[in-house]
Amino acid sequence: MKVLKFGGTSVGSVASLNNVKKIVESIPGKAVIVVSALGGLTDKLISTAKMASGGDSEWQNEMEAISKRHFDIIKNVVPEAAQTEVNKTIEALLQELKRNYEGIFLLKSLPEKVLDVIVSFGERMSSVIVAAMVENGKRYYSPEFIKTEKWYGKNIADRKLTDKLIKDTLGNLGENEKAIVPGFISTDTVSGEITNLGRGGSDYTGALIAAALGAEILEIWTDVDGFMTADPRIVDEALIIDHLTFTESMELCTFGAKVIYPPTIYPVFHSNIPIKILNTFNPEAPGTLITDHPQLNDLEVKGVTALKDVALITITLKSYNEIQEPLKRAMNVLSKEAVRIIPVANPDPYSELSFAVTASDARKSMEMLGKEFAPELSSGKITPPLLKENLAAVALVGKDMRNKSRLAARIGHSLRRQGINVEAHSGGNSDTTLIYIINQEKSSEALPLIHSLVFEL
Ligand code: ASP
Ligand code: MG
Repeated sequence: MKVLKFGGTSVGSVASLNNVKKIVESIPGKAVIVVSALGGLTDKLISTAKMASGGDSEWQNEMEAISKRHFDIIKNVVPEAAQTEVNKTIEALLQELKRNYEGIFLLKSLPEKVLDVIVSFGERMSSVIVAAMVENGKRYYSPEFIKTEKWYGKNIADRKLTDKLIKDTLGNLGENEKAIVPGFISTDTVSGEITNLGRGGSDYTGALIAAALGAEILEIWTDVDGFMTADPRIVDEALIIDHLTFTESMELCTFGAKVIYPPTIYPVFHSNIPIKILNTFNPEAPGTLITDHPQLNDLEVKGVTALKDVALITITLKSYNEIQEPLKRAMNVLSKEAVRIIPVANPDPYSELSFAVTASDARKSMEMLGKEFAPELSSGKITPPLLKENLAAVALVGKDMRNKSRLAARIGHSLRRQGINVEAHSGGNSDTTLIYIINQEKSSEALPLIHSLVFEL
């Protein structure tokens, strides 16, 4: 059985919804279909919440527009016989949404829990519409079976319970049934309150379901033809990638490719379920297939991406040869705070250690390091950590990258010749990814340059 996920643009207009209908109805037998909110709606729900809680009565017009958009779509895509029923369900949801806005407008504040409730309406409504639109469609309410738990203040999937509940709920579909599931939304295992899997989380809903059911494939239907060798808005010559391994796709996503939500890959990777990226607006295109092994005609290098808003931290030791212990301690305290570390080669393997973090973690990281190394700092054994900001991590992803030292050197050389200073690089520390830390403003120059070196010979 297949699990398909349709993103916001795919369910965002009458024309695209008609494509979704065609695609889903052409699947023989049963399938699970995960849907996002109508394109742009989650942003709209959030901005309207900010308006209301800020005391701006303009929120009422926004609320009107949200209602109108849904009713217009229903009128055009839902079979006439079902429209009254669907209108009634959507009307009730909209009323509930409106009461939430009224509440925060009076309260003049926006508690996180209430925002979670507000953003949940996007998927709650889109799934009702899609279920009424496709033949043999039946809606299942994901907050009843996608469960989250708290982890350092974040909501993460409660895998064990979720796995079981998915099996119980979706494990026994009718012969031709198309189970329509709202993506993104969930409930807390302990409190039962509405939560979500994070922005872009519908992909992850699809992955959790595919893994629990042992699906044959997870198809992610979006608005591009697949993963590309570079962002086509920056590199004109960018090409579609036919095939990636799970690890390669994960690296491309973590370093800035916005095709899928990075956590999506773990559950299906562990169950070895292939992912296919497909385009709702161009269903004939072959797309990108993601599996666990390289394929025969794979390109050696798959793509180049840039992750912006990166900061580089450097610690200098006064004495040589003691780098291992401080390195371990630094990694330890930062990982305890869930700081994401981008490892780079140490500038001097005996006395200097360096690593990159995302800008949002930079300040916290500096504080943590200051505390951790307080004794050494006061005795002067190490110098205060140095922070360099406004950087980008440019990543080149592919096979056997550890052994591509000639290519790595050539790229470093070309960047420097172009006047782009390489602040740090990954050296040979990963088999999948070469990283160059450069000035953020230079990344739109660096990407075409690297792309032409690698792909346009
Ligand atoms: N609607 C949610 C968002 O825009 C989830 C998703 O689309 O995957 O982030
Ligand atoms: Mg979305």
